[in-house]
Amino acid sequence: MIAKIARLSEPLINQIAAGEVVENPASVVKELIENCLDAKARSISVWIEGGGERLIRVEDDGCGMGREDALLSLERHATSKVRLQEDLERLVTMGFRGEALAAIAAISHLEMKTSEETGYWIRAEGGSIVAQGPCARNRGTTIEVRSLFFNVPARKKFLKSPSANTAQIIRMIETIALAYPEIFFSLRTDGKTVLEVMPTAPKKRIEQLLGSMPHEVASDHLWGFLTPASEAKTHRRGQHLFVNLRPVFSPLISKAVKAGYGVRIDERSHPSFVLFLDIDPGSVDVNVHPQKREVRFADEAKVFQIVQRGVASAFETSTGFAESISFSPPPPCPFVFLEKTASPRVFQESGNHAYAFDFTEQERPLAVVDGYLLLQNASLLLIDLRAAHARVLYESLQSPQGAAQALLWPLEILAEEETVQTELEAMGIECRWTGKKTLAIDALPPFLEENDFPQFLQAWQEGKRIDDVANRYARAVKKRFTLEEAHFLWQQVQRCKESKFDPKGKRIWASLDETRLRTLLDLLSD
Ligand code: ADP
Ligand code: MG
Repeated sequence: MIAKIARLSEPLINQIAAGEVVENPASVVKELIENCLDAKARSISVWIEGGGERLIRVEDDGCGMGREDALLSLERHATSKVRLQEDLERLVTMGFRGEALAAIAAISHLEMKTSEETGYWIRAEGGSIVAQGPCARNRGTTIEVRSLFFNVPARKKFLKSPSANTAQIIRMIETIALAYPEIFFSLRTDGKTVLEVMPTAPKKRIEQLLGSMPHEVASDHLWGFLTPASEAKTHRRGQHLFVNLRPVFSPLISKAVKAGYGVRIDERSHPSFVLFLDIDPGSVDVNVHPQKREVRFADEAKVFQIVQRGVASAFETSTGFAESISFSPPPPCPFVFLEKTASPRVFQESGNHAYAFDFTEQERPLAVVDGYLLLQNASLLLIDLRAAHARVLYESLQSPQGAAQALLWPLEILAEEETVQTELEAMGIECRWTGKKTLAIDALPPFLEENDFPQFLQAWQEGKRIDDVANRYARAVKKRFTLEEAHFLWQQVQRCKESKFDPKGKRIWASLDETRLRTLLDLLSD
């Protein structure tokens, strides 16, 4: 019998592991810079050519490595940073897996020059050391990566254009530079200096890189700067969050910041900020994502509170309070559906449907029967709730003003085509690529529920036109409406540009006056 199972060779194992760590040139730059930070460098200079595919060189003046360590550093799971399980639970350095250098070396031509006291250089190709020897170098380390992905043709095909990679690298270095104002950073791309920042005070560094952020947060565990609500954007790209100085992505914190702005900012706008959250390393798990972009908090409610309060206090103590309030606060609503999906401004553009009725006096929701609401006002109304849902969703998808619900954990979906992202964003669904075919959904528009998102995707694949999608989705979700939800939906429909018909022209509601009721009874008695 021929054995089917064979042990993978070490270089192959490294190549496979490399795929996890090394997604693109920017992730190489990130890993190399994080090593410089861990080595306590004061100056970090980066050169790239061809978007990083041709060359990435990172030079630092950190602690450097001796000959033995330099050789070890290219092996998998060789790290000077974690010795014990306990360490893993209380990580304070950037790197900790001990796999970045090995992974990068496995898929490139890598040359290292490093010196703790005396210099040593090593050249590796596809992970194997091909040359080494003593060299002259001041204390510090230079790592040069050429021909990235040379032996991973499948990956190479999916690389973005050099200019897209360059843009990503610039943004990434800027982000790191925000958190380390005391360190000199420079970046040269194809011979041109595109970034150079001298050591300076934190606020100065932020201003240099992002412009003015006048509101200062300085509370327990949280500090940083915020833009005024009036400068809020429809996207979250101006949001920079660091947890224990590590740049991360956290919808939870985006949400908490917004909660801190309170009524100063409307539902669909996002403030820009640079915030540093400083918490016990034991209460945050950074080991969630191979690239360490995501974090998990042991006590989410507490983190939410720290951030919300911290942000709110920035406005109390500064001139921020004089800022105009963008809309009057909506009355607190006890209904789950509303809380998750209502957006006080969503239908504001629809303008002339002045919304004025008095729930208690003039209008009484009587009963929900299957997908219908029976409601009493001057006469009796029968409302098709699925048609109503389709209508409000349709109008929200058609003119998105930014997403309303940031998801605590991004939903990952597989997307075959590049256009998917733009198409989803056009409907107000915030998303970003996390792999060559994976899109992470960060936030959803109103009336689209996180749990029902798979149905939405299905409807979208079948329908493609927004009217179709809204109709299919509203009819596909198995929703049991409570009386309150049904009434809320009815209120929302009345604010729509078109409140009588669903996107496909089906009647949403009809009033049942006496004549009609009589006709109906006669009709049914046949
Ligand atoms: P990790 O950072 O997770 O420990 P890496 O593969 O990134 O793993 O690096 C392996 C080891 O190489 C590090 O633990 C460190 O000891 C050493 N090293 C890497 N880069 C540098 C550098 N720029 N300066 C000093 N030491 C470095
Ligand atoms: Mg590292």
